[in-house]
Amino acid sequence: MKVILVTGGTGLVGKAIQKSSYNYDCKFIFIGSKDCDLSNYSETLKFFDFIKPNYVIHLAACVGGLFKNMNYKVEMLEKNLLINYNVIKCCYESNVEKCISCLSTCIFPDKTKYPINEKMLHDGPPHNSNDAYAYAKRMLEIHCKAYRENFNKDFICVIPTNIYGEYDNFNLEDSHVIPGLIHKCYLSKKNNEKFIVRGSGSPLRQFIHSDDLANLILKVLFSKEKISNLILSVSEEDEVSIEKVGKLIAKSFDYEHLIEFDKSYSDGQYKKTADNSLMKELFGEYKFIKIEDGIKSTVDWFLNNYESGNIRL
Ligand code: NAP
Ligand code: GDP
Repeated sequence: MKVILVTGGTGLVGKAIQKSSYNYDCKFIFIGSKDCDLSNYSETLKFFDFIKPNYVIHLAACVGGLFKNMNYKVEMLEKNLLINYNVIKCCYESNVEKCISCLSTCIFPDKTKYPINEKMLHDGPPHNSNDAYAYAKRMLEIHCKAYRENFNKDFICVIPTNIYGEYDNFNLEDSHVIPGLIHKCYLSKKNNEKFIVRGSGSPLRQFIHSDDLANLILKVLFSKEKISNLILSVSEEDEVSIEKVGKLIAKSFDYEHLIEFDKSYSDGQYKKTADNSLMKELFGEYKFIKIEDGIKSTVDWFLNNYESGNIRL
């Protein structure tokens, strides 16, 4: 039976892969930082030697939304460089057959043509707000490519858009926009205060539910297709504004009357519209969870878990 190691197995995407993993006849091992500090090379190598994985899904990373990327550039660069270097090197040293690493559409060039596709990743500098994170991720792509080209290793990358769902990080400052606004709307309603959405509300994003991303990553893992980098995204028509996201969250809380946009905060990159045609070519049409339904179920999950303290804040 194949042994599949999932780094970042305690995070948003890792937890979603846990749910889908029961459909596969393999031994999945999900790890977080307490199981192995992947920023430490000797610890990582020892761990890989012990587990002897056939496949690796590499999700572990120092992750955050726009404001974490802006305020913690050194941490985003250094931790991600270390984690990624160690994991890819140890995949090679321990003879892993296939490794899928996770990039992001937010690491593409700031000034570019739309929609962005897999070939355009290195065509210019990323947006200044997240350049530290972006360059660490771009090096991960180069690292995998080098092992593919010189050692014929099946080390590949998937490139998701903005992800949301259960087990996300709901921290008020550091999180991505959907979990951050869910937590903020909850508090606004509780205290009968304004629900503040940061920025103008005009930026556009493609959001993918973590359950959909998990299904797609597992399809990639078991696919025999020759893949190097693959964008995993909803279609261009499903791109939505931050304003719409804020309003959907407010609607889910039945708290629509006090929403306000605070333009003193950064908007970040205006859009990163991604082309999912390669994904469709490989796997056909995929029926994604609609943003309206995904936000509603994530809000319900948040409400069911907040009081018990079972939430990352
Ligand atoms: P997440 O929820 O923040 O989880 C991060 C995971 O990485 C956790 O399991 C964490 O373990 C682990 N980790 C962090 N530092 C570690 C270390 N030093 N050693 C071992 N494990 C460590 O992240 P996510 O949102 O699921 O993201 C998964 C992947 O998708 C990442 O590569 C991310 O860059 C990428 N991505 C995310 C988004 C998004 O919107 N969230 C968008 C595009 C791409 P602990 O639980 O122990 O801390
Ligand atoms: P991005 O998609 O990589 O830019 O990351 P985010 O998930 O952090 O989304 C950032 C966008 O959401 C920007 O346009 C922000 O101005 C907007 N936004 C509005 N309110 C919030 C909030 O409370 N947290 C975050 N992270 N972004 C917010």
